[in-house]
Amino acid sequence: MLLKKKVIIESLNGVQSINGILSFQGVTLNVFCYVTDGVLIDTGGKSLLKQFEPFLLEQDYEQVWITHHHEDHTGGAAFVLENRNVPVFIHQMSLKDSKGKPDYPLYRQLFWGRRKAFHAIPFSDIMNSRNANWDIIETPGHSKDHLAFLNRQTGQLFTGDLYVNPKTKVIMQSESIPTIIESLKKVLTYDFGDVFCQHAGLVKNGRNMLSQKKEYLEEIQYQVLRLHQEGLTNKEIQQQLFPRKYPITTFSSGDWDSLHIIESVLMSE
Ligand SMILES: [Zn+2]
Repeated sequence: MLLKKKVIIESLNGVQSINGILSFQGVTLNVFCYVTDGVLIDTGGKSLLKQFEPFLLEQDYEQVWITHHHEDHTGGAAFVLENRNVPVFIHQMSLKDSKGKPDYPLYRQLFWGRRKAFHAIPFSDIMNSRNANWDIIETPGHSKDHLAFLNRQTGQLFTGDLYVNPKTKVIMQSESIPTIIESLKKVLTYDFGDVFCQHAGLVKNGRNMLSQKKEYLEEIQYQVLRLHQEGLTNKEIQQQLFPRKYPITTFSSGDWDSLHIIESVLMSE
């Protein structure tokens, strides 16, 4: 499969970042890893590993924190463990999965590659880096094991895949909109400045964008419930709220679909 690959390395408000971009047949995906105060946050996807290797080898860090188990965040973890003497931290519930073979759909294996097994250890609620204490914030919804990291000294917040974009139109079957809303509310109770997203990079007006996303999702939730009460089927609700069909829906054979937004809202009722 011919994937086009590109990386951009830059410093964003004192945080070292690498952005890997993959494109194939009109679908473009990208992912960021960050290094700050001796911590590497996420490791990219296996399909980008060759492009990420110099960064993973040369950056200055002594621990690795994983925001969640998805393959675009854990694809370089085995490589880091083989080449650097550093611990890799992940949510308690993903320790076992990390040691196993990848278990995700074929289209994701085609895009992000097959991540190798790796040995991780669990986070504590509070973690330390060279010069800072951090809050490790449970923020499920995108995945059950999802975490956000807040550097209490700099106020920089690393949001994994909690944000990605302000107006979610498609989600994976495994995601839950009501749970994402709760997680957004939770991070908004913290005192933070810069927001670093694993797919959008450094988000301008981060707090404002996170709160815009929360409001957008709450409005979607309200509309879904209203239309459902009026007796519309899930498909009819989809036609009203999300009339566009997205390439990722076809590409993923429906794993990414706006229908899952509706289903997840109705399921939690
Ligand atoms: Zn993810």
